[in-house]
Amino acid sequence: MEIATRILNGAFLTPEEAYTLFTDASLDTMTLVHEAYQLRKYYYGHKVKLNMILNAKSGICPEDCGYCGQSREMKEKQRYALIPENQITEGAKVAAENEIGTYCIVMSGRGPSDKEVDHITASVERIKAEHPQLKICACLGLANDEQATKLKAAGVDRYNHNLNTSENYHDEVVTTHTYQDRLETIETMKAHHISPCSGVICGMGETDQDIVDMAFALKDIDADSIPVNFLHPIKGTKFGDMNQLTPMRCLRILALFRLINPSKEIRIAGGREVNLRSLQATALMVANSIFVGDYLITGGQPNQLDYDMIQDLVYEIDYGHAENEVKTQ
Ligand code: SF4
Repeated sequence: MEIATRILNGAFLTPEEAYTLFTDASLDTMTLVHEAYQLRKYYYGHKVKLNMILNAKSGICPEDCGYCGQSREMKEKQRYALIPENQITEGAKVAAENEIGTYCIVMSGRGPSDKEVDHITASVERIKAEHPQLKICACLGLANDEQATKLKAAGVDRYNHNLNTSENYHDEVVTTHTYQDRLETIETMKAHHISPCSGVICGMGETDQDIVDMAFALKDIDADSIPVNFLHPIKGTKFGDMNQLTPMRCLRILALFRLINPSKEIRIAGGREVNLRSLQATALMVANSIFVGDYLITGGQPNQLDYDMIQDLVYEIDYGHAENEVKTQ
């Protein structure tokens, strides 16, 4: 097999090879995990990056994303407007106390108003003054040039805007914005030297080919950080009754993403606990990053279980900006 050795020697998987590896039923998932682990070990050693989410504005969203409990299609239980600055900075304090490397400030909605961006940037300036080591990721939706300029000036390190799915499957997931809209926001952030974080949600009815396409699309946009979400179905959403994932399939997806994006931060994101279940630790042999705490409107597991898992793996917490520290060949 020795795919990892080939990749470490400078080769890249072609889309056709990747599809064959991903779908070949005779190729054991643990063999792929083993290959992916060689790459994870080379680029990140025993380090794990921790991230924490703040849902700074919840629900009240005009978009129709089929996986999301905050969309206009839902009668949200948790809906509130943008929270006050003090609550945003308080969340950063909790993150710093929990050895978190990146604090992710997330807002529901199609994109932020200029007033909301000003509110976020004022909060980020305060956080940077109080916790200069804490990296800040903003996830505010579709954003323009002027907004990116303000976010960069305030000290935002990273912007999350997921591709979510393949270009081919996009319209099955959302109809109120396009795949191209998503790409444009990512490119805008890159143009302002804000580190691009972009990932996917698997288990929404996409095909194996879609999953391979997503991994290559993220390689093409050169995402520094790749959150891989596994659908945690929310009743009442379009995908509320989906049930496509098994722990082994999740591992196979993570291994595929590592083989195609070997040096990138690969984060096991939403749906980790419910989909990987007892294989979460195995998944961290492929991924090098997780969220600690709750997700946007679904709960995570108690923080201590994550710290225990890291200790059991004899891993160490990485506070650094991984994409600036990875080895180059
Ligand atoms: S994912 Fe974001 S844009 Fe889509 S419905 Fe949910 S809050 Fe709105």
